[in-house]
Amino acid sequence: MTFRAVLLTQEDRKVTAEVTQLEDAQLPDGEVTVDISYSTLNYKDGMILNGVGRLVRDYPHVPGIDFSGIVSKSADARFVEGDRVVLTGWKVGEVHWGGYAERARVSGDWLVKLPTGLSEFEAMSVGTAGLTSMLAMQTLEDHGIGSGPVLVTGAAGGVGSVAVHLLSQAGYEVAASTGRPETSDYLTNLGASQIVSREELAEPASGPLASERWGGCIDAVGDTTLAHVLTEMQYGASVAACGLAGGHDLSTTVIPFLLRGVNLLGIDSVVCPFETRNRAWSRLDELLDRDTLSQMTTMVGLADVPKLGSDILAGQVRGRTVVDVRA
Ligand code: NDP
Repeated sequence: MTFRAVLLTQEDRKVTAEVTQLEDAQLPDGEVTVDISYSTLNYKDGMILNGVGRLVRDYPHVPGIDFSGIVSKSADARFVEGDRVVLTGWKVGEVHWGGYAERARVSGDWLVKLPTGLSEFEAMSVGTAGLTSMLAMQTLEDHGIGSGPVLVTGAAGGVGSVAVHLLSQAGYEVAASTGRPETSDYLTNLGASQIVSREELAEPASGPLASERWGGCIDAVGDTTLAHVLTEMQYGASVAACGLAGGHDLSTTVIPFLLRGVNLLGIDSVVCPFETRNRAWSRLDELLDRDTLSQMTTMVGLADVPKLGSDILAGQVRGRTVVDVRA
């Protein structure tokens, strides 16, 4: 049997992506074969498609760090033909062939059965970015959220958009920080009650502490933005650090931790425990407003993926991008 896929090849350190026809026999080992319905575009996919960060070591390679689909063959007792499943993380799309294909073969340990209320399309509108937002929100809640607004940085991106919506659905007041003022209406529709400019937060902080402003923060940006935000957290409040769209450096002082008891909490969706993952998917099913989810989602086909990989690294992609692998 053959199937279509985006195949990455590398020559003289230059990575090229093209849609091509592959054979089932070329698929990597794994107990479960999945006929993929949808995959998505995430920041990490942009890095992989452009050979940034050397995340992929073996070529040729099929990228795509997440997918939803239907089990077509299983040697794992936990899954039978016809099961609807979702996969995010476990270095699929980096070390193992991923979701930009009509078919994948993976370990059953990496698959989550979809909650009955969530379609394969909705699961991928959420995707890795949305799961990360939920993990971040759960982590903030586990540590306690203060009375001030919860700040989301990189708000018009994938992680940010879902975070704004989830926090608002859960009843929190949300401040959305963006470098694209033209997305203000979009962010307000998702549930933000105030918009903060990216520039304001990216400015180096004026000192080790500033006025207490935020009851919590989901940060997708890192670097000077994260350092600045740490100085503005309320006493005992937490920052869930998810991403590095603005850079991976962090220059701060210990003062916010010592004098305000601020918590800096790392979020890793790649290898997070199964129990946490299942809880997150159930809560996503519960909280997501399906109309709002569709407003933040753009649908593309496999052939659009290579160009979009560059766009997302340039910060030009809004919300979530779902790849219909059959289109
Ligand atoms: P997107 O590109 O969709 O969103 C990133 C957003 O960050 C942009 O939309 C933009 O928001 C803002 N941004 C982009 N460039 C800069 C810059 N130079 N300075 C400041 N802000 C910038 O990516 P994702 O939402 O998919 O991912 C966001 C981050 O989270 C990435 O670093 C990604 O690697 C990480 N991530 C981490 C995961 C984990 O498990 N920890 C899982 C998934 C993602 P705006 O236009 O609103 O300013």
